[in-house]
Amino acid sequence: MTTVGVLALQGSFNEHMAALRRIGVKGVEIRKAEQLQAVDALIIPGGESTTMAKLAHYHNLVRPLLSFPALREFVSTGKPVWGTCAGLIFLANKAIGQKSGGQELIGGLDCIVNRNFFGSQLQSFETELSVPKLAEEEGGPKGFRGVFIRAPAILEVGPDVEILADCPVPLETKKSIMSVDNGQEEEIVSRERVIVAVRQGNLLGTAFHPELTTDLRWHSLFLKMKKDSSDRCLQRVPTSGTDLEDSLGKRPFDLPIYE
Ligand code: GLN
Repeated sequence: MTTVGVLALQGSFNEHMAALRRIGVKGVEIRKAEQLQAVDALIIPGGESTTMAKLAHYHNLVRPLLSFPALREFVSTGKPVWGTCAGLIFLANKAIGQKSGGQELIGGLDCIVNRNFFGSQLQSFETELSVPKLAEEEGGPKGFRGVFIRAPAILEVGPDVEILADCPVPLETKKSIMSVDNGQEEEIVSRERVIVAVRQGNLLGTAFHPELTTDLRWHSLFLKMKKDSSDRCLQRVPTSGTDLEDSLGKRPFDLPIYE
């Protein structure tokens, strides 16, 4: 049976664990490097990337438990890894808008992310995303309720990266970026859209939080990702919106989990 690790240093790991339970997959909270050996895939949840990095360093320095090299090694094994929000920032090869002095990244995903792209916590928002690829592979509607909480955006992707969703840059975001006088920011503000979900080989990245909705299609998609070096399919999970609705007792399946 497939076992999925969920990095459990900080952030929305409980919600990912609950989503895995709902689709009948075993989830394990990961706090020690050695636990990584026992899982087939890893989810790096949203939360606060700077805090998570501090905790990873703390664990590594005080007791050699979990460290960036251990996480990098896991990514390089070719097992599927999914980063949501802060997790996406960690997986990116390059991040801008980092805290002063920079932030350590795990890397692997050939893209540039802009941390806190949409503004502060107050500018957090929900929006209907167009997700044709997700609908094609997982069934269900072509839209997905994207929950963005002090979210990053992806500005550039490399040739091997598949774009799964993008979204328009809200006017509020443009206004607040325009108030910062910086050449690079001007270039960003001229964009009409930014990328918010990508896939590259064994890596999946979403700037939003699917674990905060009851629509399980991103989890389902992730579970079908193959280990890069083999053709093994991780898990069969419901593929159509109807199956998912059935498993949720006919409840509309894209509502936020907290109502
Ligand atoms: N802004 C956070 C960070 O930089 C990410 C927010 C989130 O994961 N919801 O880590």
